Amino acid sequence: MSTHEDVFDVTIIGGGPAGLYSAFYSGMRAMKTKIVEYQAELGGKILLYPEKIIWDIGGLPPTPGQQVLTNLNDQARTFEPTICTSEQITELTRREDGIFLLKGTSGETHYSKCIVLAVGHGIFKTAKLEIEGADRYEVTNLHYTVQQLDKFKDKHVLISGGGNSAVDWANALEPLAASVKVVHRRDEFGGHESNVIHMRNSSVEVLTPYCVEELHGDEAGTAIERVTLKHLETNELLEQQVDAVIVNHGYKMDLDFLLESPLTFDTNEGILAVNEKMETSVPGVFAAGDLVNNDGKLRLIAGAYVDGAKAINQAKLFIEPDATSQAYVSSHNERFAKKNEELLKKEDPVHAGTH
Ligand SMILES: Cc1cc2nc3c(=O)[nH]c(=O)nc-3n(C[C@H](O)[C@H](O)[C@H](O)COP(=O)(O)OP(=O)(O)OC[C@H]3O[C@@H](n4cnc5c(N)ncnc54)[C@H](O)[C@@H]3O)c2cc1C
Repeated sequence: MSTHEDVFDVTIIGGGPAGLYSAFYSGMRAMKTKIVEYQAELGGKILLYPEKIIWDIGGLPPTPGQQVLTNLNDQARTFEPTICTSEQITELTRREDGIFLLKGTSGETHYSKCIVLAVGHGIFKTAKLEIEGADRYEVTNLHYTVQQLDKFKDKHVLISGGGNSAVDWANALEPLAASVKVVHRRDEFGGHESNVIHMRNSSVEVLTPYCVEELHGDEAGTAIERVTLKHLETNELLEQQVDAVIVNHGYKMDLDFLLESPLTFDTNEGILAVNEKMETSVPGVFAAGDLVNNDGKLRLIAGAYVDGAKAINQAKLFIEPDATSQAYVSSHNERFAKKNEELLKKEDPVHAGTH
């Protein structure tokens, strides 16, 4: 824990794509930068889909989420920002001298001249199966996300949920699992229409309107071996043998530190209003990524990058009003001169330094 006031130029709250790219850009603008992330790992929502292939980032071939995460992490560390993980910001205030104070769950106070909010939809807490004792199976065969498809090879899988994720995982697992059943409270499914049609036309068995009523453990009581489903109109009970249960009941969000801050932010249902420069209603606080809304907002990883660069440029001007309004392009930017030398030396040790 810091015993003195270590004041940063920029503190970025949230280590998803918006926060990580902002950290890189902030280093490029020679600002003393800190990232604070609630989770133990950086990456934000991409941590939820490490095996999915991402196609829509300009200039990048179709790439699995995990690789995009690794690239983003490496890029964010280019100018060695301070990184605090497993730290949730719970309070955001401003002192009379203008320094922002951020209180974290570790007990530490973070001091900063300005802030970039990159908290996406807030602390992402998976909505759990509301059945007493269900948590004991989380170490064996009750899953809230799919990290490795192979784990479900030749297994009888039951998925509970009717949103995008439930449909997606049903389609992804159908070719390799022994069987896939999807249990949902309604017969309408969320997600892309073509994915829902694909699921309905496949071997996936759709059970509606049902909910998961009870989990039955094996003899050792460590893994689920049967599930009781309840028909929501007739109350009829149905037993299913399972090897694995996946629950996709959505997420709960926590943006309390923003909503309860004495600084008044312009928010509406978890979305923060910003102008085209990514300025919030509080001077010195900028924002980027899924958290924000403005005209033409692009809710994509690529959109988060653009927001981040804009937010950082404004942060630079906030601290140094005489600074240039944008960073010089990276290919001609002096900040990279030494790093380019090192890269070229690695590639071509003989001709390095002649460029
Ligand atoms: C299943 C799925 C598939 C997707 N596929 C694609 C795709 O193919 N292409 C694409 O462009 N986009 C895709 N997206 C969208 C993309 O992931 C998001 O647009 C992107 O992650 C937004 O980045 P962000 O940094 O704004 O927010 P997030 O990724 O949500 O990151 C926010 C971070 O802030 C942290 N945080 C929140 N509150 C606090 C706090 N109080 N203190 C500290 N830390 C905090 C969170 O823990 C989180 O790590 C997909 C999304 C999902 C869910």
